[in-house]
Amino acid sequence: MTSICMSSGHGQYVRGASGYLDEVNCARDVVDETARLLRDAGVEVQTFHDNQSHSQNENLNRIVNWHNSKSRTLDVSVHFNAYQTTSKAMGTECLYLTQEALAKKVADGIAKATGLPNRGPKYRDNLFFLNSTAKPSVLVEVVFVDSSTDADVYEENFDAICASLASALAGKSIEAEPDEPVVMPPIAEIPEEEPGRPTIGKGDEGDHVVYVQTLLGVLPADGDFGPITDAAVRGYQSAYGNGVTSDGIVGPKTWAALDYLENAKAAGNDRLPHDQAQRIAALAEKSAIAKYSWKDRGKLPLGYTAGIAQCFGLAATRLMEGHPIATTAAQADRNSTDQDVLTWYRNEFAARGMDNSVDGIDTLRHLFVLLLGLGARESSGRYCEGRDMSASNTTADTAEASLYQTSWNIRSCSSSIPPLLQEYWANPNGFLPTFQNGVKLDKDDLANFGSGDGAKFQFLSKYSPAFHVFVTGVGLRYLRQHWGPINRKEAEIREEANDMLLQVQHLLSEDASSSDATA
Ligand SMILES: [Zn+2]
Repeated sequence: MTSICMSSGHGQYVRGASGYLDEVNCARDVVDETARLLRDAGVEVQTFHDNQSHSQNENLNRIVNWHNSKSRTLDVSVHFNAYQTTSKAMGTECLYLTQEALAKKVADGIAKATGLPNRGPKYRDNLFFLNSTAKPSVLVEVVFVDSSTDADVYEENFDAICASLASALAGKSIEAEPDEPVVMPPIAEIPEEEPGRPTIGKGDEGDHVVYVQTLLGVLPADGDFGPITDAAVRGYQSAYGNGVTSDGIVGPKTWAALDYLENAKAAGNDRLPHDQAQRIAALAEKSAIAKYSWKDRGKLPLGYTAGIAQCFGLAATRLMEGHPIATTAAQADRNSTDQDVLTWYRNEFAARGMDNSVDGIDTLRHLFVLLLGLGARESSGRYCEGRDMSASNTTADTAEASLYQTSWNIRSCSSSIPPLLQEYWANPNGFLPTFQNGVKLDKDDLANFGSGDGAKFQFLSKYSPAFHVFVTGVGLRYLRQHWGPINRKEAEIREEANDMLLQVQHLLSEDASSSDATA
């Protein structure tokens, strides 16, 4: 049976080529997505990204040692090529020492998926990776980072590229659309323009603008349709999809799409009793951790600490109910330095008396202690933060969003994540008003990238922050290498955070026992 070890070329600190694309970032995306497709197709895959090495030698050895330490039948290294800055299409190639037939299949597949030139299989007897890995191996050069055409084609065809690579490696056809997309109700016949619902866009003013701003969470809702409102409307339009164009203009179709949001919101709730959520926020706002000055970040918005406290209250409640997202997050230390943040941070937790060796509420609370610290690093506690504009992650799957700058390609790591997108799209309430406290929106904050489920993910991450917190909490247990501040151990673990979350726990158990008494 095929069992594949895949690694991305170069590393966090030993950067590869860069141009219109960044080789290291893109190679990681391709490895993660291809692995996800392969796993969905029943193929065993292990992945590796080097986040430690500081020299090229160390990096090459670490990658090869990782491959050779695993049991597998095939070794794959993913790189991107570079030559000179050009707008010309350059194309794809696959390097081999012994695996000419496989290398040809890989290059043929990617060339077909992209329409870019097929540079074919290339024999190389001087590459450390091909020479030193003990199993049959290939090294893919996906496209050229310094060709603007290659870069555009790569961004547009990311899913198809990964599917073709997965198919070539597995020796069977693997399709690009494995997720069950969120099913949208079709927009019914819409009149050209309804009286009372004028078409509005940038520069317009008035009550209709206030309504749109309020619904989309634009603060302040001042009735001026400016750049923030424009980004919010476009962001929602791309998330909604279903024939609605992301143009920032609220016409009949977008009004209908906004109706969907208003109805979904009104029909649902935050999933905690309102009064209980308010008391949790109040105790969090008074806590020592709310006043703490985080390293390099200072004091965070009050709404951040309060919002995370509410999310923990909800996670604890869901753990009691046996919800998969909570039971997955609350598992004992999985004993995997590569995957699980609790293993990676084991000594740091132990030094503060936080033990994660048992499934349950204590482990879940400690994970939230770390979540508080990670949000400080990734977004300074700003739920509305858009993608990292200094990185090239512009596809729906790779664009980062919100508190943890998590992207939708995280979903592959746990089967508990994809259903959460459906759940929150149907009921998009996730403590937004709490997280808004103390945060001022910037122009590009609410913009989203791409379309489909990845755009929905970005939208919900900022519209229902609890959704984003839960996805990230589970992601940290399976794919902790997704977050730079985790890999560098910059996310702080504070005892004050643990104390505050313990108070949340006590509040929940007091509420539970008093309702038992009156029942
Ligand atoms: Zn390279």
